[in-house]
Amino acid sequence: MPKHQLVVIGAGPGGYVAAIRAAQLGLNVACVEKEAALGGTCLRVGCIPSKALLEASERIHAALHNRLVGLRIKEAELDLAALMAHKDRVVRANTQGIEYLFKKNGVVRYHGHGRLLDPHRVRVEGPEGVVELEAERILIATGSKVAPLKGVELDYDIVGTSDQAIAYPQVPEHLVVIGGGVIGLELGSVWHRLGARVTVLEYLPTILGGMDGEIARTAEKIFKKQGLDIRTGVRVTRAYAQDGRGIVEYEGGEPLVADRVLLATGRIPNTEGLGLENVGITLDERGRIPVNAHYQTAVPHIYAIGDVIAGPMLAHKAEEEGYAAVEHMVSGYGHVDYNAIPSVVYTHPEVAGVGKTEEELKAAGIPYKKGTFPFSANGRARAMNDTEGLAKVLAHAETDRLLGVHIVGPRAGDLIAEAAVALAFHASAEDLARASHAHPTLAEVLKEAALAAWDRPLHI
Ligand code: FAD
Ligand code: NAD
Repeated sequence: MPKHQLVVIGAGPGGYVAAIRAAQLGLNVACVEKEAALGGTCLRVGCIPSKALLEASERIHAALHNRLVGLRIKEAELDLAALMAHKDRVVRANTQGIEYLFKKNGVVRYHGHGRLLDPHRVRVEGPEGVVELEAERILIATGSKVAPLKGVELDYDIVGTSDQAIAYPQVPEHLVVIGGGVIGLELGSVWHRLGARVTVLEYLPTILGGMDGEIARTAEKIFKKQGLDIRTGVRVTRAYAQDGRGIVEYEGGEPLVADRVLLATGRIPNTEGLGLENVGITLDERGRIPVNAHYQTAVPHIYAIGDVIAGPMLAHKAEEEGYAAVEHMVSGYGHVDYNAIPSVVYTHPEVAGVGKTEEELKAAGIPYKKGTFPFSANGRARAMNDTEGLAKVLAHAETDRLLGVHIVGPRAGDLIAEAAVALAFHASAEDLARASHAHPTLAEVLKEAALAAWDRPLHI
């Protein structure tokens, strides 16, 4: 029976990062993955393919609508097959990259479904047969899957999930998206840019629940202006395919008929067939594996990280946890600063945030001051002809310590990195404001918002 000091189950961003880091720290590591390609949801069907489509479709949209400054295009047409081929190439390059990194670091890969037989044995059943592994420690990184919604009958074709929506063979004439969260807005934007009529049905009063309210409301206005038909306060009760069409029923209105329906109302932890009952691990009320601050489950040498435990379902959160969990195994230390984990929605403009939202500060009774700055007053944004949105800096009213930064605007997802570092280093608004920012860059928006929070802005 092959023996390993660490067996990781799942090769998504949590599992593959943990496996590589553990090998770098000297452990004999195996990684069990049921899919042929490594990289998990993120690389195969999540972050990477959706961003390939978002990046390309933004340029395609600008070209199709003659919105490229100084250029008149007489004839332009979409080549959807070429776009999908580009996406597939990007996915392949990334998933094969993990294979290379496994080889380079000596991580042994087992292809198959992993199941815990007892606290030190994992059974792998795959295309090449069955193998049992003996493990000193086990790390569960089995990720998440689409949450079912009562009344929604998925046929994984007309009524489907993001797995289908990253690969529609034709542009739908009408796409109905159930859920105005991250997936709904990102993939809704892709198909809208490519020519579909897109209706987004969101149960809550605003889209992007959990993000800063002012920023989410601004984003909603911008997306509506772009032509996304966003309807909030709408509870979907039923969706099904009939005669080649998708029917979506909701409270208080006539059913919608579409040629594609995308269910995007959240994801749930993936623990199916994992054999948790064989080792005495029980799930919490939301189906997640409970862990302590060091990612140890009820069985101390079995760890869990990523989407399968509590916290935001984000690839970089899973990565940080994987890194911290194996560092703890080897050195006794390992820590993730959850307050400094950014979240980004890769629409156009992008929406990004890190730290506390204004709503959270109000609810916690923390006195704060706020500085905002619009992209319309930024020279680079004007040069880019991309001036919608604003940055907002929240700092403690008495100490000036940074509490949160929120942005809706061009490249917000890149701009937020600076704010995440500032939060991690416990910077003040003054620190951010006094740091030199290259001119002319979009990052100056953040400097100005920090100036506005600390004292007063210069350029407005
Ligand atoms: P996963 O990536 O889900 O990986 C788990 C792996 O475990 C899978 O490969 C699975 O096949 C394998 N597995 C499960 N059970 C077993 C078993 N018993 N035996 C063997 N293997 C098993 N996050 C971001 O931060 N940024 C984004 O832009 C972003 N975009 C997204 C877009 C979409 C459409 C989707 C669906 C998600 C997106 N996410 C994004 C979320 C991100 O994909 C997840 O948070 C991330 O993949 C979680 O990593 P993980 O390692 O915990 O799990
Ligand atoms: P989500 O939680 O972001 O959004 C789901 C939305 O559906 C919510 O706004 C919710 O109020 C709404 N909803 C729930 N029930 C409804 C109903 N009956 N009718 C109408 N609306 C309803 O979930 P998601 O968009 O499916 O994304 C899943 C996960 O994947 C998220 O946790 C997200 O973090 C992750 N993800 C991240 C990124 C990124 O970081 N850019 C991109 C895609 C996905």
